[in-house]
Amino acid sequence: MTVDSSSLAAAARQEPAAPTVVMKFGGTSVADAQRIKRAARRIVVQREAGKRVVAVLSARGQTTDELIAMAEEVSPHPDRREMDMLLSTGERISCALCAMAINDLGHRAISLTGSQAGIVTDTSHTKARILDVRGDRIREALDEDRIVLVAGFQGVSTSRDVTTLGRGGSDTTAVAVAAAIGAEVCEIYTDVAGVFSADPRLVPEARKLPIVSFEEMLEMAASGAKVLQLRSVEYARNHGVRIHCRSSFEDGPGTVVLSEDETMERPLVTAVTHSTEEARISLLGVPDRPGAAAAIFGALADAGCIVDTIIQNEPLGDGRDAEVSFTIPQEDLPAAERALQTVAGSLGIAKVDTDRQIGKVSIVGAGMRSHPGVAAKVFETLGEEGINIEMISTSPIKISCVIRADRVPHAVRALHSAFDLGVAGIEPDRGPR
Ligand code: ASP
Ligand code: MG
Repeated sequence: MTVDSSSLAAAARQEPAAPTVVMKFGGTSVADAQRIKRAARRIVVQREAGKRVVAVLSARGQTTDELIAMAEEVSPHPDRREMDMLLSTGERISCALCAMAINDLGHRAISLTGSQAGIVTDTSHTKARILDVRGDRIREALDEDRIVLVAGFQGVSTSRDVTTLGRGGSDTTAVAVAAAIGAEVCEIYTDVAGVFSADPRLVPEARKLPIVSFEEMLEMAASGAKVLQLRSVEYARNHGVRIHCRSSFEDGPGTVVLSEDETMERPLVTAVTHSTEEARISLLGVPDRPGAAAAIFGALADAGCIVDTIIQNEPLGDGRDAEVSFTIPQEDLPAAERALQTVAGSLGIAKVDTDRQIGKVSIVGAGMRSHPGVAAKVFETLGEEGINIEMISTSPIKISCVIRADRVPHAVRALHSAFDLGVAGIEPDRGPR
């Protein structure tokens, strides 16, 4: 039997490709030349172990903050399209430098901008959402045996402009690329060893969690845990991408984020999270009639503000006015205040109050779903510490309390010890399956 060369080539093409990993390095992991070289070596180790590697990099160190400050020096309200042109450069720098370092280690690397990598987003500048990842350029480069570096945090909009994905957006780039190319895992290399039961800077006995479910990680990211951008977790859950958060400075396993049915029985409470980066807006004298809340929150949504805990006090007696309070990220405050000015006028709202001194503490745990009494224990713990609760919000696996910002460290420590989350409190987990 004769075999012609074209069918041989076809057979070769059908051979299953080596497994692909996506490795994402955060800003501190590429902050200087030594660290870029260290990241390059870690990438090369994976390649030499037979993996196809796509690395997604963040901007170096404080670069993004410095670029924002530069813009504010020349313009009080920088144009958002130009802002994206500016901010997207930070990640390009990291990728080009890392590609050079990898080439010097005897491998062939290629760096790609978000746009070159086929990351297509909507048109909302500085907060764009990924609509599609056309991974063919990445795949072609992998097939040519290259290590591919993709600039995180950016894409190209449907109207062909450069966009960025919001602070921390490189995580989402990494997860989206992992989903598009069918990577076996998306590794997030960072300056902490994984996801902890509380911020170790506040709680020294906080425990590294071997596994966390997508649902828990979503609640944790939404309530202040900084390890992963919220959108990256949403994206991972929706596309079934396994995330491994680990240290870029030491070896050893970090935290694996995976679907709930892959996790084993979980303790009642998994972690305490906190945030002091939110503000509360209170609207006094809101007319008590259908459509008022819709007008207020519609305007906020149109302005792109992410509203969390909402409380409305029902007025006592007919014809009285209601009071509505809610929390939003401090960075959304200017946009929110602008949006509210217009509705306040048309609805006849008496007063708009802003309070930046609030903090939020939350406890998160999938085990909470089936156990009563967790909320009572949270309130009791804070009460015993003399910490006043100003607002409360819950989900089936989260309880959040708004308190004064300066009481946050104390509240986090008290809750962490009340639920026994520390190193000594819990039997070692067996880790992911
Ligand atoms: N460089 C961007 C930021 O500082 C994106 C990222 O690091 O994920 O937010
Ligand atoms: Mg980050």
